[in-house]
Amino acid sequence: MTEAHDEYALGEVGECPQCEQRYLFSQTDEERHCLTDGCKGTLTVVYRYMLETREKAEKLMNELADLCNGGRMSDIAKGIEKGVARQHRTLQQQMFSAMLVAMRHWAAQAAKGPGYYDARNEYTVKTAKRIMELVDNSVHVPLI
Ligand SMILES: [Zn+2]
Repeated sequence: MTEAHDEYALGEVGECPQCEQRYLFSQTDEERHCLTDGCKGTLTVVYRYMLETREKAEKLMNELADLCNGGRMSDIAKGIEKGVARQHRTLQQQMFSAMLVAMRHWAAQAAKGPGYYDARNEYTVKTAKRIMELVDNSVHVPLI
């Protein structure tokens, strides 16, 4: 890992924050701009450990979905309560932030309108929207 995230080196992966496309950086400054047609994004360096963390988080959400697909909700709730309670309090704060990210996603679906959800997840997106309003639409929590 290099020091500054703004700098990049040959062969490093750049990611566009607008279209999420990834490109390998070359040595030219032009390569810093997103190559996707019509996109004006500026690529930022994304390191292997960042990609691994994203993949782990995605895998965790798939595991949670699998658990919810067939598991009794009361058993899942007991496991979640026990698992949350025994975490370090600073980590609990970070876990809450992670859960707010899910709320932010659903709230965004609610904001886009009825074409982005239906009766099966309407309660989820509309309730998530209310929760995000409660936290001023921020997923950031104090890290103490
Ligand atoms: Zn782009």
